[in-house]
Amino acid sequence: MRHHRFNAAVTPASAPEGWNPLTLAWLASLWLASLANWPLWFTLRDLPEFASAHGLVFILAFCGMVTGLTALALTLAAWRWSIKPVLALFLVAAAAGAHFMGTYNVVIDSTMIVNVLHTDARETRDLLSLRLFVGFIVLGIVPLVWLLRVRVQRLSVWRQLKRNLLGMLAAIVLMGALLLMFFADMSGTMRNYRQVRYLINPLNSFYAMAMVAVDAHAKPNGPPLVVGADATLTPRTPGTKPPLLLLVVGETARADHFSLNGYGPKTTPKLATLGVQSFREASSCGTSTATSLPCMFSVFGKSAFESESRPHENLLDVLQRAGLAVLWVDNQAGCKGQCARVPHADASTPAPGSAALPTSLCQDGECLDEALLLALDARIAALPADRRERGIVIVLHQMGSHGPAYWKRSPPDRKPFQPECRTNVLQQCDRQALINGYDNSIAYTDDVLAGAITWLQTRTATNEPAMFYMSDHGESLGENNLYLHGLPYAFAPREQKHVPMVMWLPPDAMALKSDCLTAQLNNHFSHDNLSHTVMGLLGVQTEVYRPALDITAPCRAP
Ligand SMILES: [Zn+2]
Repeated sequence: MRHHRFNAAVTPASAPEGWNPLTLAWLASLWLASLANWPLWFTLRDLPEFASAHGLVFILAFCGMVTGLTALALTLAAWRWSIKPVLALFLVAAAAGAHFMGTYNVVIDSTMIVNVLHTDARETRDLLSLRLFVGFIVLGIVPLVWLLRVRVQRLSVWRQLKRNLLGMLAAIVLMGALLLMFFADMSGTMRNYRQVRYLINPLNSFYAMAMVAVDAHAKPNGPPLVVGADATLTPRTPGTKPPLLLLVVGETARADHFSLNGYGPKTTPKLATLGVQSFREASSCGTSTATSLPCMFSVFGKSAFESESRPHENLLDVLQRAGLAVLWVDNQAGCKGQCARVPHADASTPAPGSAALPTSLCQDGECLDEALLLALDARIAALPADRRERGIVIVLHQMGSHGPAYWKRSPPDRKPFQPECRTNVLQQCDRQALINGYDNSIAYTDDVLAGAITWLQTRTATNEPAMFYMSDHGESLGENNLYLHGLPYAFAPREQKHVPMVMWLPPDAMALKSDCLTAQLNNHFSHDNLSHTVMGLLGVQTEVYRPALDITAPCRAP
């Protein structure tokens, strides 16, 4: 049988003898992707969503993508003097990686032993180890022996460069085409089974080693740069009460699924009766919690924040420096560093001196969002009295509509929209059932925000209350076959960036002209407005405050 030449089309008849480095790179990529990645393919095959024929096709496509990715890396080394040592390194690393992952049932990331994928291997370990040793020989040594014996074609640097560029283009086209065709499966897999990426062998080992090296050489960032060092509070008019602002950070909520904003199903009936202002055209800074949250709390706005080379203090530092009492209460995976220098608490931990959390709200350390509202008076009482006297800001960080398990975000007895999707495999759900599950989570957020307002109304004797709610980003619910969120901002659809923004104030509160906010409900706003609106509402004076970004600035009586 003749050797198949991947790049035969560009090989002139007079080409020198031997295997072209690019051909070797692609053959090795196929070998590594298909055989040396057996722990990855076995793991995927065992997942319930890939038990079907479609699942098998996806696994083959995934294999194609890994082939392309490996080829892309190996093409960089596809030169006659470098291809053999680099391939030898890849083959040995891959065989060792497969052996390691297969024997210990772990994935390879920078902590090396993070995620145990299977637990039932102990009984058959001896048999497995023998098979895996044979596997190491077959995967690593056999191709290595063959590789050492073949002759490598000697082309001029220029001719080899042209081939390699074509090879890289082919790898990129292959990966791009497969990713587009299987985007829903791919994004679902990467979200539900994050550890899968650490099974891609041997790139996982090289990546992990690079990360360890980077961490070892990383310079400490030092403390964040001070922001708003001059922050003070406008002296309160005699006879007025200190402000109490609830700043609710929503999660994964879409503006166009709030009936307040014109959505058909009644997802926000309670807020509709409470006289809130819903700004309908607000956009997020990022498309994921990790990118949006620091940007929301930056006082510099999206573009300046994204070009920062060092961490800066945020809105909460400025508020605290101005003398206000600040508290962050979290019902999610933490505040992404935003509450590092202010008092913070977990919704799953009872407030000091208050009763245990009811099991109807919290189970196994995970709480429904109403837990954020429990014992807020006790949490406030624990803050310094001199600060409370000047004003209080409480950030409530919601679990909101965090996917893909939307059905877990509303209590069983409060699900107005039926039937509801109850699986993490969103693309397998009936579309309407998926939307119902999501809408139930929005309806529950309506309950939580209405509960927050009801609580604020109990504080009017001592405080001037206000609530400001904004989600961190939106969500794709199957539009154009996209799910969840986190696409790069420039490519992300509107569903992932159009967020609800709701404000509640008692009539004529905080010396704001009535109807002034109402006139702005259709204006375009963004996370850039959040910090400055909060500073404006609370009367914080500092050089970093920009009245043009404060929604309430035009409404303040002169
Ligand atoms: Zn988020």
